[in-house]
Amino acid sequence: MIVAGAGMAGLVTAVRARELGLAPVVYEKGTRPGGSMLLSSGVVWRHADWQAFRLECPAGDERSQRLVWERLDDALDWLRSVGAPVVQDETENPLTTGMRFDTRRLTERLSSRVKTLRLGEPAPLEAGEPVVLATGGFGGSPDLVARYIEPASPLRLRGNPWSTGDGLVHGLERGAALSTGMAEFYGRNMPDTPWTEAEYVAAAQLYARRARIFDEDGVEFFQADDVSWSETNVVQATARRPGALAYYLLTEDALADPGVASRVGPRIAPGKLPFIAPAGTSAAVRVVASITHTIGGLRVDERARVVRDDGSLVDGLYAAGVDAGGVAAGGYASGLAQALVLGLVAAESVAAG
Ligand SMILES: Cc1cc2nc3c(=O)[nH]c(=O)nc-3n(C[C@H](O)[C@H](O)[C@H](O)COP(=O)(O)OP(=O)(O)OC[C@H]3O[C@@H](n4cnc5c(N)ncnc54)[C@H](O)[C@@H]3O)c2cc1C
Repeated sequence: MIVAGAGMAGLVTAVRARELGLAPVVYEKGTRPGGSMLLSSGVVWRHADWQAFRLECPAGDERSQRLVWERLDDALDWLRSVGAPVVQDETENPLTTGMRFDTRRLTERLSSRVKTLRLGEPAPLEAGEPVVLATGGFGGSPDLVARYIEPASPLRLRGNPWSTGDGLVHGLERGAALSTGMAEFYGRNMPDTPWTEAEYVAAAQLYARRARIFDEDGVEFFQADDVSWSETNVVQATARRPGALAYYLLTEDALADPGVASRVGPRIAPGKLPFIAPAGTSAAVRVVASITHTIGGLRVDERARVVRDDGSLVDGLYAAGVDAGGVAAGGYASGLAQALVLGLVAAESVAAG
């Protein structure tokens, strides 16, 4: 059994597969295990309410959503049982339930339970033995992002650099169907300044609800009232504006809000904007849309098996994590939860033959 990728989904698949008596070989293209999981905030969550999940992600595949929603609590128990250290047993968001892990130690704990982990080696993906695709989607491929997401300009990457669509390309070569949500992505609006991996979380400009949102041409293209709680919708809209950038205009009142003041990036004076700012603007921040990972991918069934358009199975091919597309289509859901549950399911599916 081959597992392609040693991020959240791949490591979970491999650990569970070993528990079930299989001998997975995990290939990791990057120079370290952990994928984007290692860089993440480590909050593994689900919507508290099933209907709220459906309403929030209406274009998503209901079967996959139900799988993640129903299995997550047990999956979190499993994750704890393998020694993953919990740093907080709640999400601090009344709309969601879950827990937060220390991602460095989570990566270490999971990796230590994988017997064969080949770092720096893209997985050999020819058909033969069962393959679980867990390559993290195609956010790191400017070409695939341009083809499916069609941003106005290339998106800055806010995730691991190795998730360049290898799983997607392999699945399509073998006749797999695409999921819903191919044009969607999860990302953040970030300051239009250089930032590094270490700043992915802290530099995110997460206060669009307190701003007026304009593009480079001075068009107010998004209303604060329409910004979703995750702010994913304003990021996707920003990606389609000229240069994939926006200006967040802030009043004195907004700037005094601690939620804004603690996050606000480099300020621009209203007179320096490329358009005439509305009265009351005290400062602006120029933000760029960044992509953390894709939302669309390969279509899977409720056993993480990759399927064709006619519903038939692609022999011996499974997908977990971001490679299994469509779970959060139309909105936003936990990528770590999707990776955890589908990783467990993929391993159990391979074991069941
Ligand atoms: C800053 C940041 C904060 C985040 N915060 C959260 C959060 O709090 N909660 C949450 O739910 N989600 C969060 N996420 C998203 C979360 O990290 C991802 O949804 C999750 O890691 C996806 O798991 P995955 O296994 O599909 O992909 P990854 O964890 O990215 O792993 C994919 C792996 O596949 C490898 N790979 C790629 N191609 C190949 C190949 N051909 N062969 C072998 N290996 C390959 C990659 O190198 C990578 O290691 C965050 C992400 C970031 C970057």
